[in-house]
Amino acid sequence: MKITILGSGTSHGVPVIGCSCRVCTSRNPKNRRLRTSVWIETGGTSILIDTSTDFRTQALRAGITSLDGVILSHSHADHIHGMDDLRPLTFEKTLPVFGSSETIEEIKSRFDYIFKKTQQGGGKPNIILRKVETPAIMCGNADILLIPVKHGELNVLGFRIDDFAYVTDANAVPDTSMDLLRGAEVIVIDGLRYRPHSTHFSVDQAVAVLKELKPARGYITHICHDLDHDEVSAYLPAWIEPAWDGLVITL
Ligand SMILES: [Zn+2]
Ligand SMILES: [Zn+2]
Ligand SMILES: [Zn+2]
Repeated sequence: MKITILGSGTSHGVPVIGCSCRVCTSRNPKNRRLRTSVWIETGGTSILIDTSTDFRTQALRAGITSLDGVILSHSHADHIHGMDDLRPLTFEKTLPVFGSSETIEEIKSRFDYIFKKTQQGGGKPNIILRKVETPAIMCGNADILLIPVKHGELNVLGFRIDDFAYVTDANAVPDTSMDLLRGAEVIVIDGLRYRPHSTHFSVDQAVAVLKELKPARGYITHICHDLDHDEVSAYLPAWIEPAWDGLVITL
């Protein structure tokens, strides 16, 4: 399995428009973070998690030429607003887009033009919405376990494929979901900043969850401009790293 971190940044991205803080003006490319998303290639199946606002740039950078499915964690703008840029990947086929019923309903209203009858040709991604139900879904050849987590009041889906788990936009993982994550070899988890936040794990909270789960490798994602890559790298235990855009994880 090959996992590409397409984006490791919080909803604004880093640099933040108009911000002149030391991270936003840093020359370290690992401090430049597009909106949070990953691409997973496994057993001949190509899966995108979230169509971030930056999806077009991310697809071009990573060389995504085909997808078998898109899975949405939740419907916040930073995770879905690249939806229209799926168009070139749906010229030849209808692409399934999976999400919870809450997420699918949001997609229908936010992207209503996609589902209205209009003239043929261009203009709209050729997608079909698929409501998921726990505990798991099949996407191509991949068996994907759904991991319910909380993002403030909102329900968000995390995912586990074999020994890889991905939990973005969360500030609480229920015990039943901790059990689903246990035993994963690599876990990517939300860790917005050092200071606490009402809907995201802080770095220390993310580390605490990872220490309980004990994967071989852990990564923090959805990072804001408070965190300098090298400094947070030095702060974290050796087996946990901040993710960065373009990071490829194989297992
Ligand atoms: Zn987000
Ligand atoms: Zn800044
Ligand atoms: Zn969110």
